[in-house]
Amino acid sequence: MTTATTNGTNGTTGPGPVPLVACHECDLLQRESAVPPDGTLRCCRCHAELYRAHPNSTDRALAFTLTCVVLFFISNLYPIVGLAVNGDLVETTLLGAVRVLYRDGMWPIAGLVLATTFLMPLMQMTAMAYLLVPLQLNRRPYHADFVFRLMHLAQPWGMTEVLILGMLVALVKLAHIASVVPGVALWSFGALMLLLAAAGSAFDPRALWQRIGSFDDVASNAEAAAAASAHTALRCGMLSCHSCGLLVKSTAHVHGAACPRCGAHLHARKPGSIARTWAFLIAAIVMYIPANVLPVMNTSSLFGSEKDTILSGVVYLWTSGSWPLAVVVFIASIAVPMLKILALMYLAISTQRRSVMLVQERTRIYRLVELVGRWSMLDIYVITILVALVQFNALATIQAGPAAVAFGSVVVLTMFAAMSFDPRLIWDATEDHHV
Ligand SMILES: [Zn+2]
Ligand SMILES: [Zn+2]
Repeated sequence: MTTATTNGTNGTTGPGPVPLVACHECDLLQRESAVPPDGTLRCCRCHAELYRAHPNSTDRALAFTLTCVVLFFISNLYPIVGLAVNGDLVETTLLGAVRVLYRDGMWPIAGLVLATTFLMPLMQMTAMAYLLVPLQLNRRPYHADFVFRLMHLAQPWGMTEVLILGMLVALVKLAHIASVVPGVALWSFGALMLLLAAAGSAFDPRALWQRIGSFDDVASNAEAAAAASAHTALRCGMLSCHSCGLLVKSTAHVHGAACPRCGAHLHARKPGSIARTWAFLIAAIVMYIPANVLPVMNTSSLFGSEKDTILSGVVYLWTSGSWPLAVVVFIASIAVPMLKILALMYLAISTQRRSVMLVQERTRIYRLVELVGRWSMLDIYVITILVALVQFNALATIQAGPAAVAFGSVVVLTMFAAMSFDPRLIWDATEDHHV
């Protein structure tokens, strides 16, 4: 790990202007330094990862991406899991499960599952392949800016790894009902999860932009280096693109200006960050109540019908002896959404009050919230698979309950709240303090 150098401390050494980089989490301007292969350059103030050295980035990312495309088709064509009851085998594919949800009138959940496990991963893979294949052939991909933004947009919403965990929990629950036959797609989804992560980490946007052509990146301007006495990009009159990281000189009132490299809208800080965070948070808190009170799943069988809430599902897992899974589901479905709401409230309040306390810790909380929030989707995937498989009209049928919709909206709303929050605002308060 290498730490970047701040301006002023080590500024005048070396030939020519050293490229500057603005930290995406605290906006501090720093000089780039050489990073050993597979090393990372971290912000010297908040320790956010500024960039990682990717040896043979294009080759590796392309190989992983093309394998992902093949695995993606296998995963969606073959059944995930089958259930053998009285000699009959009921199987479901992922899209088949989505269709059952849609047929049952649970279209918001069907849409959410389709988007997070099918459309977004597909969009991410296609965009990566589209950018990487021409690069490998030493050509410029057309409309690289637009496709790069699509990829950036899809990335946080693809949740293949959560789906895998959801499948495992569903398998354990189903094993209590009948004998379970794991399908081909279960294994190929597992491999897809690993390769998607590998492709994402091998992909180097810097290599992409270098190949595509030089942009007038003010970071390398001597003029920018001269502004080294100020701390943040904002103070030096620069904006860093939130999508591709290009440093752009801010002209007065750049409202509606677009990044010259990737075409994303440019803002010094996310617009209305705190207000939007609050709006999404309040909506999430309101939905959190029905999500936990109403039934998330209705089971009807010969022995009558049963309504399960999220908590009773955890209790069922615990009492049936699968306590490790009970703990996992409790953390993902009950603890994480609640802690996420509380953490975001704390971040919003402290930032609104321009607090200068615990800035480092608050940045860490923000990173953690961004990282773990997606795992709450677990219960949605468990329900999806249970609903698709347990459809034996006379014997037993499982249907998604109204809480599933409320719970799905809590997960999406808290993700939007975290995305709206701008961590650079935490550090802006300390800037005022220094003046
Ligand atoms: Zn930083
Ligand atoms: Zn950009």
